Amino acid sequence: MSKIEMKTPLVEMDGDEMTRILWQYIKDELLLPFVDLKTEYYDLGLEHRNETDDKVTFDSAYATKKYGVAVKCATITPNAARVEEYNLKEMWKSPNGTIRAILDGTVFRAPIQVKGITPCVRNWEKPITIARHAYGDVYKASEMKIPGPGKVELVYTAADGTEERVLVHEFETAGVAQGMHNLVPSIESFARSCFTYALDTKQTIWFATKDTISKKYDHTFKDVFQEIFDNEYKEKFDAAGIEYFYTLIDDAVARVMKSKGGFIWACKNYDGDVMSDMLSSAFGSLAMMTSVLVSPEGFYEYEAAHGTVQRHYYKHLKGEETSTNPVATIFAWTGALRKRGEMDELPELCAFADKLEKATIGTIESGTMTKDLALITELQDVTTLNTEDFIKAIRKTLEGLM
Ligand code: NAP
Ligand code: MG
Repeated sequence: MSKIEMKTPLVEMDGDEMTRILWQYIKDELLLPFVDLKTEYYDLGLEHRNETDDKVTFDSAYATKKYGVAVKCATITPNAARVEEYNLKEMWKSPNGTIRAILDGTVFRAPIQVKGITPCVRNWEKPITIARHAYGDVYKASEMKIPGPGKVELVYTAADGTEERVLVHEFETAGVAQGMHNLVPSIESFARSCFTYALDTKQTIWFATKDTISKKYDHTFKDVFQEIFDNEYKEKFDAAGIEYFYTLIDDAVARVMKSKGGFIWACKNYDGDVMSDMLSSAFGSLAMMTSVLVSPEGFYEYEAAHGTVQRHYYKHLKGEETSTNPVATIFAWTGALRKRGEMDELPELCAFADKLEKATIGTIESGTMTKDLALITELQDVTTLNTEDFIKAIRKTLEGLM
């Protein structure tokens, strides 16, 4: 059998710990035997980030701007314990944060659904994708404890020195106060990423805020979305047969519970943080959640939503057996390969991505899975495999489909 051709390389960002082990197994068993894999390799493993003073992370992000599509393995975000463990020169920043800052994107997270693992919400037949704005609001807020009586104001000093003030509160007792902000260009690129992704995946998109209460702040988000939609996307949405609609956040929450799924839910930063954890646990497992960063210019970076699964890695290092779920990492690869196939007009590459996803889901639905899924499935007579054997089982299913 001849291997499937590629034209343009994928930007491959290798990572850390157990997911780095998965990465190699996936390439060896599920990709290299079938695809003439072209990648430009960047080692984002913590040791190499440290050796290069984190330059490799920046280089990999710039390469994504050059080639358009990247696939990323989970990476360690160092904390004090990691600085010691890896003898780091510095507490390097989160690679995801660095990449996001360069690509200026929005993160979309979607669950991978399989029969036998039913969402807690019975009527959710299709995945619900969360699009989370990744800049500002409470994550970049300034806060104050107010010790006692006094006045808190917001003051804007313009470049020419003129001032505008609004009263936050005239305190008569102790209290708390907070000032937060967002930027119109950031909201605009959030809106464009959302509409681009909706068109790309042919899904209707909802956006919700609390604009009835927040008449300037949240209302700006609502207005920016509407204006960009009307001016740049409406006709394309009509042609694709999908919709954009805005509703109040309370209404959105109520509707999500009654929905069948199959849409994108765009959320402000805090709402997206909270709602994505609710959705991933309601759909089943973090190990079954994919994540893609989409830049407003149409660059894509695919990854799993989970981390490096450190606990499993330490077991692996001790020579103990692990049963780590590779599904989200496999889907990061299939997402990237399919996108590359679409951009380069390689239908065979797209078809391969579809088959690999089908083989992965089919293997689980036939009752063969990793431990995390075996614990939550309603399927009977399940076979629980270790990390490597599960990937080999997927390969067997895949060979049957090729
Ligand atoms: P984690 O790697 O997501 O794992 C947390 C727990 O979730 C695991 O201990 C495991 O539970 C379960 N789990 C997650 N993925 C799994 C999988 N594929 N298969 C089976 N079980 C899975 O989060 P963490 O332990 O908090 O973080 C570890 C490192 O990852 C940190 O250094 C953090 O900085 C990094 N991180 C990176 C990213 C990223 O690169 N995008 C995202 C998040 C975290 P059990 O142990 O109970 O089996
Ligand atoms: Mg969270």
